[in-house]
Amino acid sequence: MLTGRMMDFPLTLTHFLERSRTFHGSTEIISRRPDRSFHRYTYADFYRRTCRLAGALRRLGVKPGDRVASLCWNHHQHLELYLAVPAMGAVLHTLNLRLHPNDLGYIARHAEDRVLVVDRSLLPLFEKFAGAVPSIERVIVIPDDGPTPSGRLDYEQLLEPEPDTFDFPMLEERAAAMLCYTSGTTGNPKGVLFSHRSTVLHTLAICMADVFGIREADTVLPVVPMFHAAAWGLPYAAVATGAKLVMPGPHLDPTSLLDLMAQERVTIAGGVPTIWLGILALLDQEPKRWDLSSMRTMAIGGSAAPPALIEGFQERHGLTVAHAWGMSELNPVGTLARLKQHHAQADEATKLSLRATQGFPVPFVEQRHVSDTGQVLPWDGSTMGELEVRGPWVASSYYGGEGKDRFTKDGWFKTGDIVTIDPEGYLRITDRSKDVIKSGGEWISSVALENALMAHPAVLEAAVFAGRHAKWDERPLAAVVLKPGQSVAKEELAAHLEKHFAKYWLPDAYLFVPQIPRTSTGKFLKSKLREEYGDYLLKHPQE
Ligand code: AMP
Repeated sequence: MLTGRMMDFPLTLTHFLERSRTFHGSTEIISRRPDRSFHRYTYADFYRRTCRLAGALRRLGVKPGDRVASLCWNHHQHLELYLAVPAMGAVLHTLNLRLHPNDLGYIARHAEDRVLVVDRSLLPLFEKFAGAVPSIERVIVIPDDGPTPSGRLDYEQLLEPEPDTFDFPMLEERAAAMLCYTSGTTGNPKGVLFSHRSTVLHTLAICMADVFGIREADTVLPVVPMFHAAAWGLPYAAVATGAKLVMPGPHLDPTSLLDLMAQERVTIAGGVPTIWLGILALLDQEPKRWDLSSMRTMAIGGSAAPPALIEGFQERHGLTVAHAWGMSELNPVGTLARLKQHHAQADEATKLSLRATQGFPVPFVEQRHVSDTGQVLPWDGSTMGELEVRGPWVASSYYGGEGKDRFTKDGWFKTGDIVTIDPEGYLRITDRSKDVIKSGGEWISSVALENALMAHPAVLEAAVFAGRHAKWDERPLAAVVLKPGQSVAKEELAAHLEKHFAKYWLPDAYLFVPQIPRTSTGKFLKSKLREEYGDYLLKHPQE
């Protein structure tokens, strides 16, 4: 081989941070506080504070490779953590504030977090699992909704004495930058450890015109939380390009988001279908209330964007949806539904149907789908198989080594999504191999709920499956077989589950059935349950 003679310059997030100060110092970053007031500053301010934060963390003893956890909403301090922690060589571990405290405790312990930065408004949540994480030596409170309680380290006071500059080390691009856990639908949550390199390459890819096309002229609103799959990389893309950034804080209701989009002249926003369904419903009611003429793209992903949603935005409000597929294991964007040049001639129904697929891979992600026996399947648009992907921002293993069976011997990652792929590469997710339930973008484990239900003395068998829901896309429904001669009230089952799970995990309805349909190998046949009762909540909305 004749080796190329180009520099081996490391792909690190530090470069994006430095650019934001050097070239985009006057561009604004805006955050909404819990009291609905706004915090505004510039990339120049952001850079100074990011340096101060790195200085403060170093003073507290944070070393390269150490895990610094965040338990925060989307706001400018979280962005400071997004850059300061990786740029100083440590690893930002984003904790998902929607998880049950038991899961958070497990995850933080597994990650061996040393420092935790928490919004004051989320301190009560932290206190529920603090005892489970002996590795946490320091807790830093961001005073988002009031002053930091005495005896606690205050984020702002910590930054106060630090210098405005920090000598960021020259890092290796393969160094870990961020740790995100999957939601643990089968077994315990698993850690995905993004590297600087994977995150930089992912950032460049999502900025491509055929992906999200993020550029300096944009105003980016990440509705998708920074505590789940790095907010799809939108914050890094904004810092990399110098785009204006608007952070919604905890205010994710449609009115607050529409106000923000109109007032700040947002050009691109990203969120799960549930968020957009709420926004579309409100826009339909009050089409003239908000001036959204600045909007060029609404990125939707995390679960399938219904065609009616894509069409409704386009037809009734002139707003364009970009439907993307991704996973925590991918940094996270993998595919995006874009029409190709030759589709310009296609009829509207064909165009809509293509835009409602999960699209085809962005550059450097490769896809294939395989049968149960691992045979690679044809791209004919109808053969179903499990999607496998590979690329520079696809996990090569989980942190801690669990889940080895998700990685094939020939270098692919098994996604668990059942798909078809058409001859042009467009991917359609038809089912999930593990029957998980996704409510408002968050996973709910049916198996965990079933196991708990079946621990109730009156319950013989229980299967939990997804019911369609107008607002949350899917909500759990429980099919319950009682032991002979037993009876139990729904309220009692709910109270029983409440001890173990976050409220939003609890089934919306309990259906008492004589038996649960099974597959030939004796497993619950949930597709049958979904067929029979999938619309139960739509028909009985009062439940
Ligand atoms: P998470 O790692 O929590 O982001 O979840 C990843 C999973 O969400 C994928 O494996 C899919 O099952 C699902 N998902 C993500 N995006 C989409 C989409 N656009 N359409 C359908 N399912 C999706």
